Amino acid sequence: MKKVGILGGGQLGRMLLQAAINYPVETYIMENDAHAPSSHLCHHFVKGDITNFEDVYNFGKQLDAITIEIEHVNVEALEQLAAEGVVVYPKPEALKIIKNKIHQKNFYKQHEIPTSEFVVTQTLSELNNHIHFLPAVHKLGSGGYDGKGVQLLRKAEDISVGFDAPAVLEKMVDIKQEIAIIIAVANNGETAIYPPVDMVFDPNLNLLSYQICPAVLPEKVFWKAEAIAINVVKKLNSPGIFAVEMFADKNDNVLVNEIAPRVHNSGHHSIEGNYSSQFDMLWRIMLNYPLGNTEIILPSALVNIIGAENHEGAVVYDGLNEVLKMDNVFVHLYGKAKTKPGRKMGHVTILSNEKQELLHKANQIKHCLFVKAKSD
Ligand code: ADP
Repeated sequence: MKKVGILGGGQLGRMLLQAAINYPVETYIMENDAHAPSSHLCHHFVKGDITNFEDVYNFGKQLDAITIEIEHVNVEALEQLAAEGVVVYPKPEALKIIKNKIHQKNFYKQHEIPTSEFVVTQTLSELNNHIHFLPAVHKLGSGGYDGKGVQLLRKAEDISVGFDAPAVLEKMVDIKQEIAIIIAVANNGETAIYPPVDMVFDPNLNLLSYQICPAVLPEKVFWKAEAIAINVVKKLNSPGIFAVEMFADKNDNVLVNEIAPRVHNSGHHSIEGNYSSQFDMLWRIMLNYPLGNTEIILPSALVNIIGAENHEGAVVYDGLNEVLKMDNVFVHLYGKAKTKPGRKMGHVTILSNEKQELLHKANQIKHCLFVKAKSD
């Protein structure tokens, strides 16, 4: 049986392990927290630091293949493992490009992939040279996630909230829609593309509010988005699962925002919504089986279950019964013992042929399900 490891033991690892049950594979997780969402669901849990060379190398050298659930891992160790014959998903070369937003933007430019105009800044004071470039978005080169590491700079007075570290300053796009397309790439280069997802963001939290699949897009935006997503993933030249996040602007231009070289939040609906989920698909790739069917079974909406403001501590889910009473609604709790404001604690997928029903239920869920801390 193949031995496959995952760096990181959060919810992505957890849902990967759920899908692994169907296949002949021995699973390994490395993670610092022995109580992380996936630590008790794998065959072998190894406590370790995914950013440390020795830890990642020693973990990986016993494996046939290794993947990641977060980009923030030790790439040098993955390069060493790849040189020694462990198959790494994605390839370390692709991970290196994606891990740093400066490298990512330069990669798009080099390959003529449409993306918002940008300049690279090294320090906060350098931003003063780019006042004419505003309104813009300042993004930390490495270390940011889920909107942390992103600052909107609309006017000169906002510059003080920028980053005093290597970063990219991107022209602010007049966004009409944010979409994501997940693409699977097999070891032989064959690709399978999932239908696009419409991601609706909460402007205050800079976090996903809900997402709908398939996204309703003007036909030419749809074709452009698919072509761009396939092109950029092909240029990365690596097997694995890739989520390509894009902006469609008011003039129907499609621009790449960023890529995740792994299973991604924008593909969670695929567990119930598509014949082969993104998690199932990654196992097919890593175990060298044929790619699965990416078509939807039914349209879906997805709501993330997020820790409520002012609640920190042992978690309780308020309103769960109400959600579980709804038809064609699927609850996923990630098994995190503690909540804190903004923490991703789970998600809910809704299936329906009626867009109105999807939106109605998504709103109902957002208004009745709350993640709180026990009050004692
Ligand atoms: P993260 O990697 O932390 O998710 P993103 O680069 O996806 O960060 O940015 C977070 C959000 O900020 C995006 O989903 C989008 O709403 C907004 N944003 C990012 N870049 C731009 C841009 N160039 N123009 C307008 N809004 C942007």
